[in-house]
Amino acid sequence: MATTISEAEELVRQTGPKQMLIGGEWVESAEGATFETHDPATGDLLGVIAEGGAEDVNRAVRAARFALEEGPWSKMSASERGRLIHRVGDLIMENAEELATLETLDNGKPKAVALAADVPLSADLFWYMAGWATKLNGGTINPSVPYLPDAEFHSYTLREPVGVVGQIIPWNFPLLMAAWKLGPALATGCTVVLKPAEQTPLSALRLGELIQEAGIPDGVVNIVPGYGETAGAALAAHPDVDKVAFTGSTEIGKLIARTATGNLKRVSLELGGKSPNIIFSDADVDAAIEGAAQGIFFNQGEVCSAGSRLYVQSDQFDRVVEGISEAAKGIKVGHGLEEDTDMGPLVSAEQFERVTGYLNRGAEEGNRAVTGGKAIDGPGFFVEPTVLVDAKPSDTIVREEVFGPVIAAMPFDDIDDLARQANDSHYGLAAGIWTRDISKAHRLASRIKAGTVHVNTYHVFAAELPFGGYKQSGWGREMGEEVLKNYLETKSVIVGL
Ligand code: ADP
Ligand code: MG
Repeated sequence: MATTISEAEELVRQTGPKQMLIGGEWVESAEGATFETHDPATGDLLGVIAEGGAEDVNRAVRAARFALEEGPWSKMSASERGRLIHRVGDLIMENAEELATLETLDNGKPKAVALAADVPLSADLFWYMAGWATKLNGGTINPSVPYLPDAEFHSYTLREPVGVVGQIIPWNFPLLMAAWKLGPALATGCTVVLKPAEQTPLSALRLGELIQEAGIPDGVVNIVPGYGETAGAALAAHPDVDKVAFTGSTEIGKLIARTATGNLKRVSLELGGKSPNIIFSDADVDAAIEGAAQGIFFNQGEVCSAGSRLYVQSDQFDRVVEGISEAAKGIKVGHGLEEDTDMGPLVSAEQFERVTGYLNRGAEEGNRAVTGGKAIDGPGFFVEPTVLVDAKPSDTIVREEVFGPVIAAMPFDDIDDLARQANDSHYGLAAGIWTRDISKAHRLASRIKAGTVHVNTYHVFAAELPFGGYKQSGWGREMGEEVLKNYLETKSVIVGL
């Protein structure tokens, strides 16, 4: 049992997963290529991982196609398929400690967060989706055909798996994003090639072992770690992939959508956000302050639905800004394995450059840091939790996704003007409303163009709740019954009687 951070890192170097999973075998890359993954809090090496390239994607797609058409998967009863998926959830919980440690070391997030959120949410997603396997029913339909007035028909719909699915996921919730993607694909009977993010491959590879242990047949889930421009691009372009599901930046989402036109594969996208969190004077302001702080600082702010634009009714503005600044100052930043850590480092040098770049840009544009505003010295990609004021609607900090612990607070007076500002974004992923006036809350909830609107709460994720974006925040929904549409074709069968 590792007791120190360096011992935990050494244990992962010694025993962590390193190869890729293709057709039920753990293999090296076809070209023998490898890449490194590091602890973003220390910079230490965690593992040398097989690096997938185009040929590995080809091999994995062939394995997925074979498993779909020839293997036991499609012949299995839906009930049995559901039980295997349920077992994956059980195994995740049985290995919660190990998965949380891998997640913390590879991504940087506090282990308490991984244990409270990432791991149980992942298990629950598989449990929830397991139940859908037996409930993918079509319907019966009575068609009226104008040019066949006397004919009678018996018609019905069948819902069938879309086929071989390519799934490309990000680094902010590595295990949970794998679960969000794999759960519905398996429930619907698809087969998968999953590419984890190059920054955080470890937990998805460990999940691959658990999927095998659960008894999911060989080739149903293939996992090819590697870079986006190579492995990811090959998967998105592959002519024998029927559907691609992507979570990541809006920039790459657009690229994936264009790439997918080659064979018109189906596309679902869960992309960026710049979500407004709105506090009215009639709210429980203390609860709103706590919720708004959580809404931006949770998971280092590396959350696509982070509440990064804070709108506060004028007469409470100073109190709220002070409250969130106090909350920010109280956040203990450190290594995720240390017990008192509230916030870990950003995931990578690239992400560190991105966030500090936005902080510098904000300073240039006249945004004032009430607290935070800069990087923290030392090894690791740490930045200060930051509260900015004096931001105009046209400022970069109000328009672009930072994907870090940085919130811009702005006062408002008029609700129509507020609604306009809240919707003045290319994004439409999430929003928050804090008020005790229920009519106002519901009216505003319907006016906001976002896939999720929280009222008097923030960051509620559950397997049952659809999640996804309006506008440039994406196509389609993750989770809930909604996500099944991403993975099913509907067939009409018409019988002349
Ligand atoms: P970030 O820049 O924050 O890492 P990305 O959208 O670039 O976010 O990455 C999300 C996922 O998309 C990762 O798995 C990454 O490897 C992958 N990716 C990046 N570029 C491409 C690409 N051109 N084609 C396919 N996948 C890509
Ligand atoms: Mg990128």
